[in-house]
Amino acid sequence: MQYSDALAAIIDDVVAPNAADVDRNATFPRQSLDALGRAGILGLLTGADAGGAGLGLRQAAEVVEHLARACGSTAMVVLMHFAAVPVLEAHGPKDVREAVAAGRHLTTLAFSEAGSRSHFWAPLSSAARVDGGVRLDARKSWVTSAGEAASYVWSSRPLAGEGPMTLWLVPSSASGLSQPGPFDGLGLRGNASTPVTGEAVMVSEDAMLAGDGDGLDIALSLVLPPFLVLTSAFSLGLMEAVTADIGTHLGATRLEHLDQALVQQPIIRSGFASMRLQTDRTRAFLDDTLAALETGRADATLRVLEVKAAAAEAAVEVTDLAMKIGGGAAFRKEVGIERRFRDARAARVMAPTTDALLDFVGRAISGLPLLDTPRWSLSGMASASGSGTTDWSSTTSSTRTTSARSKSSWPVVSTQRGTLHWPGSGRSDWPRPAAGESPRSSCGTPTATSPRLWSCGPTHPSPGWLTSMAPRSESVRSTHRRPHCCPSPTYGRLG
Ligand SMILES: Cc1cc2nc3c(=O)[nH]c(=O)nc-3n(C[C@H](O)[C@H](O)[C@H](O)COP(=O)(O)OP(=O)(O)OC[C@H]3O[C@@H](n4cnc5c(N)ncnc54)[C@H](O)[C@@H]3O)c2cc1C
Repeated sequence: MQYSDALAAIIDDVVAPNAADVDRNATFPRQSLDALGRAGILGLLTGADAGGAGLGLRQAAEVVEHLARACGSTAMVVLMHFAAVPVLEAHGPKDVREAVAAGRHLTTLAFSEAGSRSHFWAPLSSAARVDGGVRLDARKSWVTSAGEAASYVWSSRPLAGEGPMTLWLVPSSASGLSQPGPFDGLGLRGNASTPVTGEAVMVSEDAMLAGDGDGLDIALSLVLPPFLVLTSAFSLGLMEAVTADIGTHLGATRLEHLDQALVQQPIIRSGFASMRLQTDRTRAFLDDTLAALETGRADATLRVLEVKAAAAEAAVEVTDLAMKIGGGAAFRKEVGIERRFRDARAARVMAPTTDALLDFVGRAISGLPLLDTPRWSLSGMASASGSGTTDWSSTTSSTRTTSARSKSSWPVVSTQRGTLHWPGSGRSDWPRPAAGESPRSSCGTPTATSPRLWSCGPTHPSPGWLTSMAPRSESVRSTHRRPHCCPSPTYGRLG
């Protein structure tokens, strides 16, 4: 059976019938997740070598959109799983990847923290080498599927390496992890999105995902793009659902004294048209973003940064309009519109928040760095930018994304400028590094094996721009070389 047929059957049989209950009682949608796992849908992004479907972001977006039409909570749980899976694909152990493919392993992101809040790029939690392994301590502020997922892709400050972040694969059963209590939110009430505290959580050093200090590169290149695209698909699903529901309501409900349906009232009809227009506009934007990524278009990174902000705000507007046009009827829980209205509000405050994305987009189109230089690297950055001696002459890639897997079979996004390769993209022409080689070797200049994936100009930042614009310490920066053909001042401002 095609995954889309299996998905439709699971939505009809399990997800949709349980949605109101999941919301009312804040119940984690375990039954739906089990059914999705059995059908192989949780393994959609896992490579065929581990038993997964090896599909790509477009298919994952379809899954999330269709789930969101029926149940926002289920969609968000799957979304966070899909956002974390690319890290496991690139840097996780084979047995975990196989368990994901078999639907036995749900994962999620544990990035946001009580200290740095929505600024996930600046974790304050710690990792330290101690007798018997690595000790993790953290105050994670929000973890979707907390206590329900099998693992967390967990951020901390590095053990010893430079850079702001190291990623770990932490089993949710590890001792030292605790949650304050059940999640009782405005929307997405079935998410189990609670804080998670880690006190002296012990993991082995093998639990590190990629290199020590590489976490921000990995988060920006492997996590952020799927998270932003899939959150847009989530918002789109909510919009489609309320637009369809309102259409049914307006056609079926009559003003009997006028012998007219609600849809015959021009002002109501105009609001309905606005909902359709915003929904269609969001779909077009999402499709365009996916096409930009799939074809390596020069503006792909800009689209990725824009799409969640556009979709999240559109969903807030469309669901608000649905509450107005739906009148008192929309207030009633059994109609399901107020549930989507509440659920839609999450996307704008999920990090990067709409405000943060607007800032990123503004920086992107102005040629500014994505993030300001954090305090930890100020001295290194100051000397680097002041000396003017950085060697930009080679395109040799960074040596910092060094897992065996990333160097061999997996088309990983490395810290090398200009590389953004989508796990399971399904593209046979996608550039894949040979064993021991860096995946890209030129400044976006098409080669026989690799299409142009990024641009040289600041106006349309490239897919690789996300990682290249992250702040780095001097020793890391020195491994990033400026291509000969990129005179753009953008590249001189990595800090
Ligand atoms: C339902 C739900 C599920 C979630 N699931 C996860 C998860 O699985 N994993 C995870 O890691 N996180 C998760 N999060 C957390 C999310 O990604 C954000 O980190 C969190 O919502 C931010 O809330 P906060 O109160 O810490 O925001 P704050 O950082 O306090 O921000 C509050 C507001 O201020 C704005 N703001 C912040 N800084 C600035 C600034 N410098 N300038 C101007 N404006 C600023 C923000 O845009 C926001 O609008 C989830 C959140 C929700 C709501």
